[in-house]
Amino acid sequence: MVRRKIMVRGLDPELRKVLEEKVSFYGALGQTDRTDYETQIAVFLREHRITGVAGVTVTPDIGVLVAATAVRLVFRRPAWEFHDFGEILVYPGAFTADGNYSINAADAQAAGMMHSQGGVILSLPHLLRGFEADNDGFNVGYHEFAHVLDGVRPDGVPDELDLGSYRPWVTVMQREFERVHRGRSFLRNYAGTNPAEFFACAVEYFFEKPLQMREGSPELYLQLSRFFNQNPAESPAACPTSPEPTQGSPPRT
Ligand SMILES: [Zn+2]
Repeated sequence: MVRRKIMVRGLDPELRKVLEEKVSFYGALGQTDRTDYETQIAVFLREHRITGVAGVTVTPDIGVLVAATAVRLVFRRPAWEFHDFGEILVYPGAFTADGNYSINAADAQAAGMMHSQGGVILSLPHLLRGFEADNDGFNVGYHEFAHVLDGVRPDGVPDELDLGSYRPWVTVMQREFERVHRGRSFLRNYAGTNPAEFFACAVEYFFEKPLQMREGSPELYLQLSRFFNQNPAESPAACPTSPEPTQGSPPRT
């Protein structure tokens, strides 16, 4: 089915119920934005394969929650396309990041991964926890799909960043990255692993704790707000220009 037909047909009413029950962001949207979000989810589900691994059955409910995290990022940028990143694998729990993807090992601590050879892995309980606790700064779906947006070779500078935003973004990213390394950032230490992890962690925080990010680094908030064309500190569907994020947090040393 071509994309246009899916857009006309929209999301299955049963899946709309899942969004109503599990996705607080969806519940806070106005009717027009709800329809846009649903339609983009329907398109995403049609165009991406989501497969359960090691006993996980990907029900339509699980599929729609996977799509809900990916589409949250691109929701206000309808012209954006995720590059062809391969299959989405849903694991029954955390796994080892050593290439064996062992689920029951003592050091199985990875909740998600974007594989350099293609494919995204998500731990199902961590994905669900992202919806249950949606203001703690952790959401494995936002994190991994942020890596996808970052590009085939993630470097913290996403593919869709416009040319004029390149220098401001790199400046802001480097400044906060250094703060992470000095233990003075609101972002978790993992954001200091490399610029790609910085971007993914910052995206999680932007959507889950927007007020705290705007307070902690108005510049970082502003750059992400412009990039995603969203202003979650104001309301779920607000554009960045209505109004501008506030300035004036105390200077950091
Ligand atoms: Zn990551």
